Amino acid sequence: HQGLDVEAVRADFPILSRTVGEDTPLVYLDNAATTQSPTSVIEAMNEYYRTYNANVHRGIHQLSMEASIEYEEAHDRIARFIGAAGREEIVFTKNTTESMNLVAQAWGREHLEPGTAVVLTEMDHHASLVPWTQMAERTGAEVRHIPIDDHGRLDLERAAELIDDDVEMVSVPHVSNTLGTVNPLSTLADMAHEHDALILGDGAQAVPNRPVDVAALDVDFYAFSGHKMAGPTGIGVLYGRESLLESMVPFQFGGGMIERVTLDGATWAELPWKFEAGTPPIAEGVGLAEAADYLDHLGMDRVQAHEEQITQYAHERLAERDDVTVYGPPPGEDRGGLVSFTLDGVHPHDLSSILNEAGVAVRAGDHCTQPLHDCLGIPASARASFYVYNSTEEVDVLLEGLDTAREIFA
Ligand code: PMP
Repeated sequence: HQGLDVEAVRADFPILSRTVGEDTPLVYLDNAATTQSPTSVIEAMNEYYRTYNANVHRGIHQLSMEASIEYEEAHDRIARFIGAAGREEIVFTKNTTESMNLVAQAWGREHLEPGTAVVLTEMDHHASLVPWTQMAERTGAEVRHIPIDDHGRLDLERAAELIDDDVEMVSVPHVSNTLGTVNPLSTLADMAHEHDALILGDGAQAVPNRPVDVAALDVDFYAFSGHKMAGPTGIGVLYGRESLLESMVPFQFGGGMIERVTLDGATWAELPWKFEAGTPPIAEGVGLAEAADYLDHLGMDRVQAHEEQITQYAHERLAERDDVTVYGPPPGEDRGGLVSFTLDGVHPHDLSSILNEAGVAVRAGDHCTQPLHDCLGIPASARASFYVYNSTEEVDVLLEGLDTAREIFA
């Protein structure tokens, strides 16, 4: 079982040949914010605009029929990619955030009330925390948070206590975009189901990096974004069990999601179109399906192995420095393609700006996890995150940049 040929992979991504500043090679380590797209994805969207751009919903002319077929089949492609039963279970949204809002609003409004509870975690992304907190406020439901331990893992004993019969929904990140922690989603799904609660997995940082099978995970809902998995911006996915989506009221209303409209009311289109109001992200759907093809062609097992290898290398090299604090699980433990850290005496924003001079793109800030940073007792961190085209040599460039930053701030 051979690993990824990083040089060959790099050749698939045109953006990687550009330079930054005064002709400095780009070292792109901000993949947990957005990944780059291979030529095949860019070309699939180009081809759409060049040869069959038209609105979908089965217009009776050739371009519309072609666009409709490609767009609808993109749902089938994504269903296969994550082990869903079929297109009925795959709703295209704008991003993970909109997928989370869809569940919090469409499902939450009908099921939350005083006396019920939603269970989140201390490591949730704002895309989970804020929609649920807002919906709980409006419905009178309680919000509980599963705490993390000193290694950034969920405290499962506390989780078992917090998930009781009052709980209607458990919403957890599959992989933390700040700590890299891989959470035991199917264990949490069992806990939720034991109490007749549902579970929503935030897969934004999981689907790009590891094989994901929603049926095996036994989750009820699962959300992710195209732009983090070598696909385009402007498209995200919500997986939902067919029976659940069937029973839910729509999230947004308008054209495309109806079956029949009168001046007084309407009936809804079949799944998944019932949840896709208005003109959907057609080119992006085509691009996303192509991204799934690209990743499958690399092999998700190999993608995961590559991520593990490079993340572990970065983690070990960072952890061996006495001027660096790394957050999240210790080296050797499963970790999702990223390392967040702080460098003594250098604010993450300054570090990021010095690294930028060396062509290195990392993220500095709270990574949309402010409460988690509060738990860690820091205002911000730097985050290096990796993808299929990153090499250990690039990690070395990052580490040299840390030395430069230390010298400047000495
Ligand atoms: N959840 C997690 C775990 C994420 O990493 C991200 C993206 N950083 C999001 C949610 C939000 O994704 P988007 O901005 O595409 O909606």
